[in-house]
Amino acid sequence: MTKANKEAAVQVEIDQDRCIGSGQCVLITEEVFDQREEDDKGYVLDAEPAAALESAVHRAALGCPGQAITILD
Ligand code: SF4
Repeated sequence: MTKANKEAAVQVEIDQDRCIGSGQCVLITEEVFDQREEDDKGYVLDAEPAAALESAVHRAALGCPGQAITILD
């Protein structure tokens, strides 16, 4: 699937300084988030997720204990 037909609705970022490595975001949507093995910090796999994942991304941001996830509309 190309970027053009993926219909990204939002952009997602993780502030590495705020991330405490809880892994909640990965549990909610592993299509968008993953954790680094070396320090457990979360990182964004797909910075422009498909529209179908938007609600899950919002849930991940709300549930992030470090308030590290930013969503740009
Ligand atoms: S939920 Fe937040 S604190 Fe936990 S790994 Fe993801 S970005 Fe980091």
